[in-house]
Amino acid sequence: MERDPGLDRTALTAFTAGFGGRVILPGDPDYDQARVVWNAIFDRYPACIARCGDVQDVVTALRFAREQELPIAVRGGGHSAAGFSTCDGGLVLDLRPIQAVAVDTSASTAYVGAGAHLGQLDEATQAVGLACPVGVIGHTGVAGLTLGGGLGRLQRRYGLTIDNLVGVELVTADGQQVRANENENVELFWGVRGAGANFGIVTSFRFRVHPVGPAVVQGVLVYPLEQAHEMAGLFCDLMAAAPDELMMSLEFRIATRYPPYSPAMAGRPVVLMEVTYCGPVERSDRYLRSLRSTRPLLDTVRPRSYLAVQTRRDEMLTWGHRFYMKNAFFPAITDEIVDLCANRICDAPGNCSVGFMAQGGAIARVAEDATAFTGREAAFWCGVETVWDEPARDDAHIQWGRATMAALKPFTSPGQYVNDVIEAGEGIARGIYGDLKYQRLVNLKQAWDPGNVFRLNHNINPAPG
Ligand SMILES: Cc1cc2nc3c(=O)[nH]c(=O)nc-3n(C[C@H](O)[C@H](O)[C@H](O)COP(=O)(O)OP(=O)(O)OC[C@H]3O[C@@H](n4cnc5c(N)ncnc54)[C@H](O)[C@@H]3O)c2cc1C
Repeated sequence: MERDPGLDRTALTAFTAGFGGRVILPGDPDYDQARVVWNAIFDRYPACIARCGDVQDVVTALRFAREQELPIAVRGGGHSAAGFSTCDGGLVLDLRPIQAVAVDTSASTAYVGAGAHLGQLDEATQAVGLACPVGVIGHTGVAGLTLGGGLGRLQRRYGLTIDNLVGVELVTADGQQVRANENENVELFWGVRGAGANFGIVTSFRFRVHPVGPAVVQGVLVYPLEQAHEMAGLFCDLMAAAPDELMMSLEFRIATRYPPYSPAMAGRPVVLMEVTYCGPVERSDRYLRSLRSTRPLLDTVRPRSYLAVQTRRDEMLTWGHRFYMKNAFFPAITDEIVDLCANRICDAPGNCSVGFMAQGGAIARVAEDATAFTGREAAFWCGVETVWDEPARDDAHIQWGRATMAALKPFTSPGQYVNDVIEAGEGIARGIYGDLKYQRLVNLKQAWDPGNVFRLNHNINPAPG
């Protein structure tokens, strides 16, 4: 269905004439393709999509949207689970064409344009034996992931993505181009690292990068659900004593039809551990020996190229599915939690999972108040996730996700990972950051975006009630 965008034609003509990128409008042949975002639940019809090729385009599109009083959805990789990078009747400021990645080996940094996805950063850095810690699916956008925090397979060794952020360049609500880093606009730099969608349009990032690979030891071990307690105990013991190079997650899930599961396993509730060891390959055995003797149904752990690891699950979580999730941090994984997760997985309506990622290591060595991101002191981050295709099944999957996290709630610690929160509202944003940080973010929002131009996000309200 197409809708009349109701734009002022004279203003639109003037904007298009002065804009170096592409303006895509309803009725254009590629409008339907251009308005799609990763989570198929969000089927929105923007009045205008402004594909920006450079910083000047960003300034021009922002000015047009403000003059026309259009809501602005900023789009990097389009993976917002909450659908924030699209809107009905507003302007999508689409950064996809700004994709340059350049690695400076002498400074061990990488410059990344705001439209790049993780796979592009991984490829450019691995070409010279380096990596920046980023997320686990290659088609996710660098921009949104970084501005919220950035969890991933290298996090215990090198920290969150924001812990490796040297600085950003951004366009502010009033169209100024500014930098934020440890020396310039220091408070803004604090807020950008965890609440970064609120203060401006980031056009580029500079990251610290580190020697990684080319091979890491990675894979999954899959067990019948009956072994859940044994595996959860082993997971917690291993992580309590692990070197930073060892990263693991524990997941309760319904086996899918995708590898590594065999067709015979599809639909069966299982517990699995994902292992990534990014230290010298020959040393991995000393840490993984105890896992090898646990009688898994499946063991795919072996040396692999880091680049291949980073795209292994891309197809399973490809564009176009419907998706819902809840997340929280946990100080421990108790027997009660294991029972609860096992029961919830047995009641799952389809492709559902409850996964715990180990934190600690480099994440825990950064002070909790050093960035806006909240939750780094917790031992585990947990995501309750569900993926499906038929709109008629929305309620069943969303209700399962909500009920599962509601049951886990009594065991959680403060904060939530902003990038994995779908429901929105002032109370929710306050809960993500906690009262103290929320107030600090309100002060920052009042300084940089008092009119709340950037509000399609987990919004920091500049005039809280
Ligand atoms: C399949 C999948 C896998 C994921 N895996 C991980 C993971 O391993 N680790 C992890 O930490 N997270 C992960 N996430 C969550 C991910 O970090 C968020 O969805 C993130 O917001 C995606 O960024 P994006 O640029 O693709 O999204 P977009 O939808 O483009 O943007 C997300 C938010 O950021 C804002 N934004 C985007 N670009 C800019 C910019 N340049 N300036 C200002 N604001 C901007 C948008 O307005 C929106 O509010 C995953 C998500 C998906 C869907």
